[in-house]
Amino acid sequence: MPRKKYIIANWKMNLSLAQTLSLAKKFKEKFKGFKQAEIAVCPSTLVLADTAKILRHSGIALGAQNVFWQEAGAYTGEVSPAMLSEAGCGYVILGHSERRKYLLENYEIINKKVRAVIKNGELIPIVCIGESSEERKTDRRDFVLVEQLEQAFSGVEIFGNQRIIIAYEPIWAIGTGTAIEPAEAEYAHKIIKLALNDIVGMRLVSQNFNVVYGGSINSKNVKSFADLENMDGLLVGGASLNADEFFKVAKEITK
Ligand code: PEP
Repeated sequence: MPRKKYIIANWKMNLSLAQTLSLAKKFKEKFKGFKQAEIAVCPSTLVLADTAKILRHSGIALGAQNVFWQEAGAYTGEVSPAMLSEAGCGYVILGHSERRKYLLENYEIINKKVRAVIKNGELIPIVCIGESSEERKTDRRDFVLVEQLEQAFSGVEIFGNQRIIIAYEPIWAIGTGTAIEPAEAEYAHKIIKLALNDIVGMRLVSQNFNVVYGGSINSKNVKSFADLENMDGLLVGGASLNADEFFKVAKEITK
């Protein structure tokens, strides 16, 4: 039986609180009875708890877009893994390239977050990696992916059935309308799995890890990603802001 795919909506900071709740209601309606994939939505931190109330019993999971690495204390403005879980989250995006660019998050910080989330044990981390256009042009993609994974998982101990999702998000493909060629995504996903084999071991990679793709996916280009061997799902930005469009993406990738 094919493994269930993960299809994750990253709503970023695109919606007001009222718009978020309205979109969550539309998702709930649209995905009623949809069991072919794991669906998760990641709204702004501010509206997580209210979105959780809407999504209760819908089968749609909730994710956050960020977390801090400490459990509690004097960390103004931050939110812990336990708080996210208490608010109803099952997922958290870590190290998105927009946070690396605008908040100067580096892989040392991302590593602390990965450790904290895994220690907490209640959330599935979605760890974003991906090369810039410059790195791709100069043939450094494979090296960059391996290095980002090594840094993110350095000293991380994975317990039991902790699930971990790696989102391969080439920076040059995010929000540009141009997705990667499916064959290139398949190649990158293979590199990611091979690198993970070295870092955490083959058994954990096959039991605990999934690799999803993110970058300008929509209902028109998604078809050609459906049959890739190493593709465990999608992280979707722009196309997830419309329930009909996101539903089409989900239907196509699970056909
Ligand atoms: C993202 O930023 O995670 C993303 C995949 O965005 P988009 O689909 O808009 O390229």
